[in-house]
Amino acid sequence: MCGVFGAVTPGTDAAHVAAFGLFALQHRGQESAGIAVSDGEQLMVYKDLGLIGQVLDDRRLPSLRGHLAVAHCRYSTTGSTKWENAQPTLRIGPRRALAVGHNGNLVNTRDLLARLPGGRSRLAATTDTDLLTALVADHSAADVVDALVEVLPTVRGAYSLVVLDERRVIGVRDPHGFRPLVVGRIPPEMLDPSGQEPLGLVDDADRTGWVLSSETAGLDIVGAEYVRDVEPGEIVVLEPGREPRSVRFAEPHPHLCVFELIYFARPDSYMLGRNLYEVRRRMGMSLAREHPTDADLVMPVPDTGSPAAAGYAEASGIPYREGLVKNRYAGRTFIQPSPSLRQRGVAVKLNPLREVVRGRRLVVVDDSIVRGTTTRAIVSLLRRAGAAEVHLRVSAPPIYHPCFYGIDTQIETELIASRLDVDGIRDFVGADSLGYVSIEGILSALDLPYGGFCFACFDGRYPEPVPYDAASRKFVLEEAGVHAHG
Ligand code: SF4
Repeated sequence: MCGVFGAVTPGTDAAHVAAFGLFALQHRGQESAGIAVSDGEQLMVYKDLGLIGQVLDDRRLPSLRGHLAVAHCRYSTTGSTKWENAQPTLRIGPRRALAVGHNGNLVNTRDLLARLPGGRSRLAATTDTDLLTALVADHSAADVVDALVEVLPTVRGAYSLVVLDERRVIGVRDPHGFRPLVVGRIPPEMLDPSGQEPLGLVDDADRTGWVLSSETAGLDIVGAEYVRDVEPGEIVVLEPGREPRSVRFAEPHPHLCVFELIYFARPDSYMLGRNLYEVRRRMGMSLAREHPTDADLVMPVPDTGSPAAAGYAEASGIPYREGLVKNRYAGRTFIQPSPSLRQRGVAVKLNPLREVVRGRRLVVVDDSIVRGTTTRAIVSLLRRAGAAEVHLRVSAPPIYHPCFYGIDTQIETELIASRLDVDGIRDFVGADSLGYVSIEGILSALDLPYGGFCFACFDGRYPEPVPYDAASRKFVLEEAGVHAHG
C-alpha cells in the first residue's frame, strides 16, 4: 500500500497543499514520504525515510516552491526500506523530466526491464516504479501524455500513479483500477496562500485548484470538492487554468481491491459512492446474521474493527462496548515490515479494560486475520484480563492466497488460512468460536455485484495473471533483481 496525492494550485505553493493531503493518507504507508514540485520550468524532489510530519516539516516545505506538486507515502512489499526506494522517483532524461508516485505493484517487471535499453544499470532504485518512470521518461514520444499512452498498455498489474512534469500533474489508473484515485477541485477562495511570496500569475487567470488523492479523505483536509474517480484505464491531465482533460489508454475492466473497502482505506473515505464506515457497519450486520452467538458484549479490535462491531451489535441486539484501548502512537501491526517488529507491536498497541472484560462472554470483531499471530496475542490479552469466553468474528473471509497487487500478503505459507481450516485457526488463536463473513455477505453489505471487485486473496481468481510459481512457491520477479513495492 502507498498513498499518492497531486496538486495544481495556481498562484500559490502546491507543496503545502500536497503535504496536507498526504497527511490524510498516512495510514497507507509509514516508511517514507516525499514531494516533487515544479514551478513551470524545473522539477525538484525532497524525500526521506520516516513519517510525513517528520519528513515534510516547516523547515523543508518553504524551500519547495512551485504551483505543481505530487506526493507519496510508502509502504514496501518486498523492496527494502532505503532512501533510494522512497518516492516520488525523479528522472531527468534527454527528452523530459518526470517525477512519479505509485500506489500498486507491477507483475511483469522482467518483461518491462527487457524493454529498457541498458537494463538494470540504468536504474537508481530497485523498485518497479523506478523502472516505469525510466520507460516513460526515455520514450521517444514528443509529449509525456503520448509516452504514457504508448508505455502503459505494456504494463501489467496494479498502478494508481501521480505524475509530474514541468507543466502538468497527471493521474493514471490501471485498467482494473485495483487501487483508488480521485479528482478534486479546490475553489479559488479556498486556496490558502502558503504565507510566502505569491507565485507569478496574471490577474484574471483562473485560480481554481485541482488535486488527485488516493482517497476522498485527502480531499476533505485541503478543502477540495470531490469531482470524480479517475476511471480504470484513464489518464487525467491537470493544468493551471484548464478543466481536467481525459485521455483513455485502455478499456476499463474494473476490479477494485475489496480489501480497500474492508480494511485499508479510512472509514471517512468514500468509494463507489459509498461511505466506508457505513459499508463496514453493514459487513458487521452480515457477520451477525451468518455467525450468531450468545454473548454479553460486542467489542471491536480498535480502530479498524469498530464499524463492523457496531453493525454486529446492532443486528444481534448484544450491547456494544469498548474493551481494548489502543495506543494511537503505535503503527498498524500488519503494516510493519519485519515479523519481530510485528510481534512486539501487539503488546505495545493494545491494553484491555479489565472492568469491562472480566467475567464477560465477549464477541470480539476484527477486520481480518492474516498470519494469526496478532489475533492470538489479542485473545490471550483478553483471557488474562478475565474474559469468560472469547467469540471471534471477522469481517473479511479467510485469506487463502497471496496478493500481487500491492498488499503485503505475498508469501502463501505465512497465511494461516492456507495451512489450517477454520477449526484449526480457532485452536491456534485460542478463541471459543470463530466465524468469518462470506463473500456473499460482503456483497450484500455493498449492494454491488461481484464483477467489479478483486477478491483474489479470498477466492484465488486473479484478474491479472501473476508471476508466481505456486508449485515452487517462488516469485519470478525476484530473478529480475527488481523488487516490487507497495
Ligand atoms: S488479491 Fe486481495 S488484497 Fe490483493 S488486490 Fe485482490 S482483493 Fe485486494
